[in-house]
Amino acid sequence: MQTKGRKSTSRKMIEKTIPLVLNPGIEKKKYLNIAQVKIVAFANQLLPFTNQASSLTKFHHLVYSKHKYLGIQSQVQEAVQRRVYAAKKARLFRNFPLEFNFPRSGNLKFTAQGHPILSLSPLKKRVAFPVKMNGGWFRLQDCVRGGWEAHSCIVFKKNRQWVAHLVIRRPLPPVQEVEGTIGVDIGIKVAAAYTLNHPCFPLVEQYLGKDLAWKQHQFLKRRVMLQKHASHGSVSARRALRRLKYKEKNYVQTRCAQIAHEIVDLAVLTRSAIVVEDVTHLRKKWTRQATKGKHGAKKTRRQLNKWPYRVLLYKLIHLAQLQCIPIIPVSPHFTSQICSRCGKRSKLSRNTRDLYRCHFCGFEVHADRNASRNISLLGKYQQGLKLFSSWLSYLPVPRERLTSCYPVSVAEVPSTTSHSTMNGSVPVD
Ligand SMILES: [Zn+2]
Repeated sequence: MQTKGRKSTSRKMIEKTIPLVLNPGIEKKKYLNIAQVKIVAFANQLLPFTNQASSLTKFHHLVYSKHKYLGIQSQVQEAVQRRVYAAKKARLFRNFPLEFNFPRSGNLKFTAQGHPILSLSPLKKRVAFPVKMNGGWFRLQDCVRGGWEAHSCIVFKKNRQWVAHLVIRRPLPPVQEVEGTIGVDIGIKVAAAYTLNHPCFPLVEQYLGKDLAWKQHQFLKRRVMLQKHASHGSVSARRALRRLKYKEKNYVQTRCAQIAHEIVDLAVLTRSAIVVEDVTHLRKKWTRQATKGKHGAKKTRRQLNKWPYRVLLYKLIHLAQLQCIPIIPVSPHFTSQICSRCGKRSKLSRNTRDLYRCHFCGFEVHADRNASRNISLLGKYQQGLKLFSSWLSYLPVPRERLTSCYPVSVAEVPSTTSHSTMNGSVPVD
């Protein structure tokens, strides 16, 4: 028995990308090279037309029939058009990925021995490409056994090898019934501070990823030094700079994945939902505030621009989806100003960056911890109302209902013992 609203969520798919290395012979390599050359030429031919069309559909009508003589497969051609239209401002393409749409311009097949093969047709002819047996190969085998289906792939040349990024998908599983919430406060200094709010488990609070901002600063210092040498003409400095870019990206991605794994593992263990702040628009506002020319504005701006908030959030959402854990988005307003013990809000409570001292009840706590407690409470409140739909829109919570979900009212503050699990350890820090 599914309602109308349910139906739309059941059609949602969850996607994953698996990098594979193709293993083509000489002839097949030649075929791919020719296709690549033709597609780059085609993309460059399209570029002047992008200004003449006001939408992608108009652009398609303008160029599709004119360039058919190149002999590119129609689906591949459409994918090129889409990419070129999205990259309007480009002047010249030197490289262009080949995009395949399954099953129309490519497909994933298996040999009699069970080895995966990508059959692709960048031009009119369809050719089967064997896949190198590496980590991706094994992951693909596991996923196919687990019910994932190949959806599309992108093929490009990397380090003299042909690499395919295969996108696989499966229907989004229904979310689990949950008993508690984990409030996650994603911040700059502490990448993620979380609070487990659960009726059967003790209060678990952790600060994760304190090293991220520090490490990013180390990278910055090294980059500044290298840039100085590179400006004096040092070739090795320039090479080191290029390598540094990937190093920093890798570090941030890996750490974010580790943090997300830790939080999702706890959620699976305790059957809890993960509650996050929806700060989509806040970043813009903060950046604007930081650029007002105050002392240290440049440093703040730099930190904000480097803040891997989105990386961490998407990793968290993706892993939670895989484990059927609901993600609850809540409004970020005042989560750092409200006292997590009495529920009263005052700007005066947040004098320093790290310490939160309640202006009303004198409760002292680390500011990030206070925020994560508030987020877990907010999530608990919203849990019954909204689970796991589009996380970008949240329900605004009426103020009086919000205060009612706080464990202790101001009148009963002096007695520290209470029925709630939230106040098991007050005051801390
Ligand atoms: Zn208070």
